[in-house]
Amino acid sequence: MSLHTLTHLWQELPEAQLRRLQAAKLGRYLRSTVLPFSAYYRKRFEQAGVSVDSIRTLEDLQRLPFTTKADLLNTPEEPQRFKDFILVPDPAALGRRPETILRAMVQGRDRVRQGFEAEFRPIFMTFTTGRSAEPTPFFYSQRDLDHLATAGGRLVQLCAAKREERLFNTFPFAPHLAFWLAHYAGTAGGIMVLSSGGGKVMGTEATIRHLRKLNPEAILGIPTFIYHLLHQAAEQGVRCPSLRRIVLGGEKVSDGLRLKLRELARELGAGPVDVLATYGFTEAKQAWVECPFSQDQPSPGYHLYPDLTVIEIIDPATGQPVPAGHPGEIVFTPLDARGSVVLRYRTGDCIDGGLTYAPCPCCGRTTPRLVGNISRRSEVKEMNLDKLKGTLVDFNELEHVLDDAPHIGAWQVELRKVNDDPLELDELILHVQKVNGADEIQLTRELKERCFSYLDIHPNRILFHNAEEIRRLQGVGVLLKEQKLVDHRPLNNPAQLPPASTTNQNHEVAHV
Ligand SMILES: [Zn+2]
Repeated sequence: MSLHTLTHLWQELPEAQLRRLQAAKLGRYLRSTVLPFSAYYRKRFEQAGVSVDSIRTLEDLQRLPFTTKADLLNTPEEPQRFKDFILVPDPAALGRRPETILRAMVQGRDRVRQGFEAEFRPIFMTFTTGRSAEPTPFFYSQRDLDHLATAGGRLVQLCAAKREERLFNTFPFAPHLAFWLAHYAGTAGGIMVLSSGGGKVMGTEATIRHLRKLNPEAILGIPTFIYHLLHQAAEQGVRCPSLRRIVLGGEKVSDGLRLKLRELARELGAGPVDVLATYGFTEAKQAWVECPFSQDQPSPGYHLYPDLTVIEIIDPATGQPVPAGHPGEIVFTPLDARGSVVLRYRTGDCIDGGLTYAPCPCCGRTTPRLVGNISRRSEVKEMNLDKLKGTLVDFNELEHVLDDAPHIGAWQVELRKVNDDPLELDELILHVQKVNGADEIQLTRELKERCFSYLDIHPNRILFHNAEEIRRLQGVGVLLKEQKLVDHRPLNNPAQLPPASTTNQNHEVAHV
């Protein structure tokens, strides 16, 4: 069966056939594209003693070495490591291929040359949103941009959006995947799209004016910003009656947040709204979305594109694959990428419901899905947050606990040291936007109990703010990305100790 079947019928093939076609595509991709044009992976294959001909099934993928975030980071000896991962085609090798010779005879040499340019020449890039680490560029050729458009079009399809709809893209205007995927989702899906660039580019007031004028059916953006946008719009009595779906990216999406956003949509005069989450990362050059699901059901998970990607789930401790539906770390391998390419890329993200090839209970598609909550372990490690006040804190859990807490809107967790002394104890300050006129004393007690029972931590202080104050704290309209977790702990190294609290090192945790 032709590999085109995999592309055309990506959402309806039975598991056995899907996996067979994925394995065939993987073998061909490694043999004809990655190994001939990637010196880096040729060497890694050699070191691992793996021949490409031995990769015949998806299980054979396990024979390949992992690529980790650390492999991508620059070192003093290798200051441009990202270049190792860019495919560099060899024109002579391409020219010798029978299919090239045949195409040149039929279409002419110029057309063949243009085809290779479009396939391999890097013409676009996005960056990882590194916090402690330097951002790493990831390159796209025209072929990758075509795949980005395909992924955008499928996102629209999965969200069940229609052509006559209008889409409001509020992701920050930046060389980050989220903005560009949303842009291509509109253009590839044939839908009118307005990209505002997020709070920093246009400011919240102007964004609200556009929201009012556009009256969109769909809003895409980062949860924290969308919450502020809709909250402020509701305060101003803005009507947005056409709104049907809110598509979120860049941060986790808890049930509590979905509920709050649906309530805000109601205040704006909208009917029932689907709040859908996406999951993606720079190295994948795509993101995956949930299909609409009933509010009393669990999320059906992120629908993958099996013609573009193979996802494996492994035990993060042993690196061994786990059975379908079991929790583990997400490992990514592309099936047709050019430009920057990573194989068996360990994301550091763990999903608690694992991977399933079973038909989706909501839409019936048989495309593989990632199910459950995703914990971005990498963030915790990068920020050195895993040990706070002597307790192992799960910050992924913390976000859920606070998002799901009743009577609070936006929030921010601030980490300090007592008296800003690096040798002192950690302090955790919880900044909270109070909603529905709740009683502060009672709310303080409830929040303290919540933090202790779920996370075993006691916030040192809980401070209440109005909407305007919490917007200022989070940097809405000022920062490219709003801050939910800030680390104001002075650095341990006295030589680098910042002089005052306003100039303290200011990490950002959330992820695009
Ligand atoms: Zn579905």
